[in-house]
Amino acid sequence: MLKSDRTEALFAEAKKYTPGGVNTSIRAVDRPLVFARASGSKTYDADGNEYIDYHAAFGPPLLGHCNRRVNQRVFEVLEKIDLIGVGTTELEARVAEKIVEHVPSAEMALMCNTGSEATHHAIRLSRAVTGRRKIIKFQGCYHGWHDYVCMNVITPADRVGKKDPCSAGMLQEAVDNTLVVTFNSLEEVEAVVGENHGEIAAIILEPIPHNIGCVLPQQEFLEGLREICDKEGIILIFDEVITGFRHNLGGYQKICGVTPDLTALGKAIANGYPCAAICGKKELMERFATGGGDVFFAGTYNAHPLSMAAALETIEQLEDGTVHEHIFDLGSALREGLKELVARYRVKAHVTGFGSVFVVYFMDPPVNSYTDLLRNDSERDMAFRWGMVDRGIFMHPMCLKRSHVSAAHTEEDVGRTLEKAAEVLKEIA
Ligand code: PLP
Repeated sequence: MLKSDRTEALFAEAKKYTPGGVNTSIRAVDRPLVFARASGSKTYDADGNEYIDYHAAFGPPLLGHCNRRVNQRVFEVLEKIDLIGVGTTELEARVAEKIVEHVPSAEMALMCNTGSEATHHAIRLSRAVTGRRKIIKFQGCYHGWHDYVCMNVITPADRVGKKDPCSAGMLQEAVDNTLVVTFNSLEEVEAVVGENHGEIAAIILEPIPHNIGCVLPQQEFLEGLREICDKEGIILIFDEVITGFRHNLGGYQKICGVTPDLTALGKAIANGYPCAAICGKKELMERFATGGGDVFFAGTYNAHPLSMAAALETIEQLEDGTVHEHIFDLGSALREGLKELVARYRVKAHVTGFGSVFVVYFMDPPVNSYTDLLRNDSERDMAFRWGMVDRGIFMHPMCLKRSHVSAAHTEEDVGRTLEKAAEVLKEIA
């Protein structure tokens, strides 16, 4: 058993001053967790227990925790400048230039702090440009906490096919104007677009819905969305907050060859420093008020030198391709190893993922949409996750959540992970 005395005491303290003791609702899991240190592929809790970390803060530290070169660049920049809040800096211009260089849809970019801001701006811009109110999102995709999109992510079975707002207090008009469709179903998209002809401003999607693990997109689906958007004058928004930088410097759009009109970026862009961006076609981006347009865009901390330094260093470290080669290799070794174990112990499970991302669903394939995932055995899923955590392998202890490999993970980490997974899967079987 892991030591937990100090963790429990500190967590009890945290709960006195912060509701639930955590600052994001899905950081609350079934047990108290308090972390004290992170380095490379490892995290350490308040009792000194070491974990190989695959949770990776939901994805940002692509180069590994506390990457020395990123931190050094940040310190160097902060010796010289902090937030100025008027005009611009050379750093922010250089980060935008890098985004434009690498991301196919990016002709221009604007920096903000969170993925939620990026998707909010993208949708508001789409409404301004088209003069339409409705948007389409997909069941299982998460695009942040704001009223436009905060619905139908991990929806209970009896609410699938209905509106499932994630929060009380959401504006009814926002909920009404967000239409929810099944991922990978072009027929459903066509039907909804047909029923709402001339009223849809944008279609927003995670090109791979990673908020429910890893549901792989059918190529015809992504191409079909592009065609529908072109035909109907709808803005296509790829939310690449997870897939951007993690799967390719150019995002998943670079891999699938489908170019959206607007892209939201975040998470891995600055290896864990708070940074996000919206980018896209020049003619759309120029509608933002920063360029004299009529779509408001603001944020006290936008393009903070700290985040810009981290983003620039992260992007530069990714440019020669070796990081992606390494994390894709380890990702596939983990998937192959887990598949072999699942077969060896005859566990009803489906191991999947993409690149550095992997997930074990406790069900048979196929997995084409969230509806398929309703067959996931949540009891086994949780038993697997906690079994791994208890053995020093941190996979987020919440059903359907994906795991991530970073540049700091090693073959030795993979070997240890598979050894522990063998013990847990044997127990589950
Ligand atoms: N979009 C996607 C695909 C995400 O996974 C997330 C967060 O998990 C967001 C947007 C929102 O980003 P943030 O939490 O930085 O606001």
